[in-house]
Amino acid sequence: MKILKKKCKGCYLCVKSCPNHGVVVVDKVASFTENCTYCGLCISACPYNAIVHTEKNLIDLSAYKGVFVFAEKGQTKLQDVSLELLSIARELATELDCKVTSIVFNPNKEDLNKLKTYGSDEVLTISADLDKDNLLQQAIILADIVNKNKPEVFLLGATPDGRSLAPRVAAKLSTGLTADCTKLSILDELLIQTRPAYGGNLMAQIVCPNTRPQMATVRPGVFRATKTEVNCDVKWLDYEVDKDTGIKVLDRSFIENTSDLENSEIIIGAGRGVNSKEALDVLFELADLLGGNVAASRPLVDANWLNYDRQIGQTGKTVSPKLYLACGISGAIQHMAGIGRAETIVAINSDPNAPIFEFADYGIVGEVMEVIPEMIRQIREKQ
Ligand SMILES: Cc1cc2nc3c(=O)[nH]c(=O)nc-3n(C[C@H](O)[C@H](O)[C@H](O)COP(=O)(O)OP(=O)(O)OC[C@H]3O[C@@H](n4cnc5c(N)ncnc54)[C@H](O)[C@@H]3O)c2cc1C
Ligand code: SF4
Ligand code: SF4
Repeated sequence: MKILKKKCKGCYLCVKSCPNHGVVVVDKVASFTENCTYCGLCISACPYNAIVHTEKNLIDLSAYKGVFVFAEKGQTKLQDVSLELLSIARELATELDCKVTSIVFNPNKEDLNKLKTYGSDEVLTISADLDKDNLLQQAIILADIVNKNKPEVFLLGATPDGRSLAPRVAAKLSTGLTADCTKLSILDELLIQTRPAYGGNLMAQIVCPNTRPQMATVRPGVFRATKTEVNCDVKWLDYEVDKDTGIKVLDRSFIENTSDLENSEIIIGAGRGVNSKEALDVLFELADLLGGNVAASRPLVDANWLNYDRQIGQTGKTVSPKLYLACGISGAIQHMAGIGRAETIVAINSDPNAPIFEFADYGIVGEVMEVIPEMIRQIREKQ
């Protein structure tokens, strides 16, 4: 991008339009600062057409077609988030009138069957002798495949591997990337990528108008995986792995995900209103009775009452249980960002004006430590 100094009238409209302090006007002429991210927002703000794309920035957008999904194998099996991505990919592809293509490294028969039954029109299977801990090897191959196939949209899961791969691939392709999207839709053939911004206080809608593909990551549990059988074409690609990426893995250790909240149908959410660590035992007792699980809001995790893998929300997990029982949780937007897909929300809170009641299907105004023991008593009575 550049500013045509002869056309610039120093009107400050670009300065007002920029969210990043990326442009200043000095002596009635605008110039970019080091904060400019080249997002292009100020181009349309300038009434004198003084801000333009340089030739290098312009690509032929019409050459890009199709929605690609990275089907992540993880250390052992195909990740559920990949199937969830396929469902939203199908919706986007219907809007864009194009195909859904999955890319998967070294799949087995079961992986391929899943990718077929969850809506891939095409699966690109890559045989490669990968070092799974060196994600740069995968990033190099993915960037090459995208370069050759030119999809207009490329989606990855916001898993630890997806979060490492996506920015590397985006950087190699010189395109944009929106992390942790909570909604994806199409408007005027552009991918509208919605995600929380400014500490979760507003939902930003982000577009990538000038480069391709439009890349986004989505956290597990945000979309629901749905089976959609379509005719699926499987292509096999052999790739030589770049062994000289400059990364040498010296050691590795796994942090076990012990909570398994993602697969729980009933979740009891513990908030600051449970008031004591001991009260958590009562919540675990109820969870056991119901065959459910216990999750936490951030203050409880910060206080080390429960492990981080039980935190729900913007900086924790996204869950989609059938029942979410919020105990002493105020309903902050950052917490609610993690339970937006719960089927039924029941809230227990001593404050009748607590915001959680605006989200809840059922509300109980009361003390957690009175309501929960009573629930346990009544459930036991009926057993
Ligand atoms: C960038 C950012 C990211 C964040 N990410 C997350 C996140 O991922 N997850 C998350 O949870 N938070 C997150 N937060 C914090 C979030 O903003 C809230 O501060 C937090 O969710 C509040 O937790 P809470 O509802 O347990 O506590 P509080 O807001 O303190 O609410 C406690 C509630 O308990 C009720 N109560 C008190 N005593 C009782 C009682 N005896 N019986 C019944 N009810 C009672 C009160 O009326 C109140 O409504 C984030 C914040 C920021 C800025
Ligand atoms: S391109 Fe974007 S970041 Fe740069 S000055 Fe314009 S609006 Fe600001
Ligand atoms: S909006 Fe256009 S004319 Fe106005 S200061 Fe910015 S570049 Fe110059």
